Amino acid sequence: MKILIASEQGSRQLDVSEWERLANVEYVATQDEAGLIKQIIDAEVLIPGWKIPITAKIIDAGKKLKMIQVFSVGYDKIDHKAAAEKGVMVCNTGGSNAESVAELTWGLILGLFRRIPGGDRLMRTGKWGRFKADKQKLIWSKTLGIVGFGAIGRLIGKIGRLAFNMNILAYDPYVIPETVEVFGGKLVPLETVMKESDVISIHVPLSNATRHMISMRELQMMKSTAIIVNTARGAVIDEAALIKCLQEEVIAGAALDVFEIEPLPEDSPLRNMDNVIMVSHIGTCPEIFIKMRKAGIENVIKFLRGAKPMRIVNPSYIINSNS
Ligand code: NAD
Repeated sequence: MKILIASEQGSRQLDVSEWERLANVEYVATQDEAGLIKQIIDAEVLIPGWKIPITAKIIDAGKKLKMIQVFSVGYDKIDHKAAAEKGVMVCNTGGSNAESVAELTWGLILGLFRRIPGGDRLMRTGKWGRFKADKQKLIWSKTLGIVGFGAIGRLIGKIGRLAFNMNILAYDPYVIPETVEVFGGKLVPLETVMKESDVISIHVPLSNATRHMISMRELQMMKSTAIIVNTARGAVIDEAALIKCLQEEVIAGAALDVFEIEPLPEDSPLRNMDNVIMVSHIGTCPEIFIKMRKAGIENVIKFLRGAKPMRIVNPSYIINSNS
């Protein structure tokens, strides 16, 4: 049994001593598809890095491949459909960092509503006063729209409801109304979320179905006083359309942790906008990395011991495999 660790950064930070007792663990420094294709031939488990997308070609070359374990919640760099067709399961560490992303999301919402970063910048220039006083709004009792009502979306809703007495609307075609109702909210179509919310927070995985699901059409449905927050994946929002809507004040603001291109290009117009606050994909707090590594390591151990791993994100793998 061979485990291939292709992680460019952090791979050797993983404590894989238990894997080493159960399998042959090999690290590769390969940074491209061609290199990985050569290395993967006899590996049963692949631990991908952050940079190389795991394409159908790589998966196809893994003649013995059974499992791809990512050490994150997002798995958009893995062609999970190609994996399912080959009977290869893709597992993530879902649920391990929901609190961390929810805390950052709320930090961004509060920061933008009360223009806290602008106020901080003002103080640092020796001044005293409010930054964009006319734009500062209360969150209390406003409407919070959540796109994607999974682990993170639910926590965002719970905090909005309990801490800020917000009216909760959620769009998620894969949950039943009761799932939202237990959080004091209502399951509605995307259009209702876009039209009626004061804060719209995005929490869907990036897939063909969600790429640019928030485009010019959806942004134009928003109230001119509303803000949009994205801590999921940049490409869920059409960034060019977002920039245009922010420049023309079609919407009041955006708070972003994720971008279509990361790192965000130095000359991105987003960097100079007063109605934007942003950070550099820091949803997962460093304190959580330990928890995520533990979850990923234990999942591979389950597999090595012949048990069924947890958090398989391409369940159709089950249809294609005999296990
Ligand atoms: P999750 O799987 O628990 O929830 C995702 C929800 O999205 C599910 O309820 C699912 O039904 C819903 N969904 C899927 N497709 C949809 C669609 N087309 N329309 C509407 N809803 C749809 O995942 P999570 O833990 O809540 O994480 C959500 C996303 O956040 C992840 O996929 C990841 O990309 C991102 N994330 C970002 C960071 C960060 O550092 N900023 C950290 C962790 C996760």
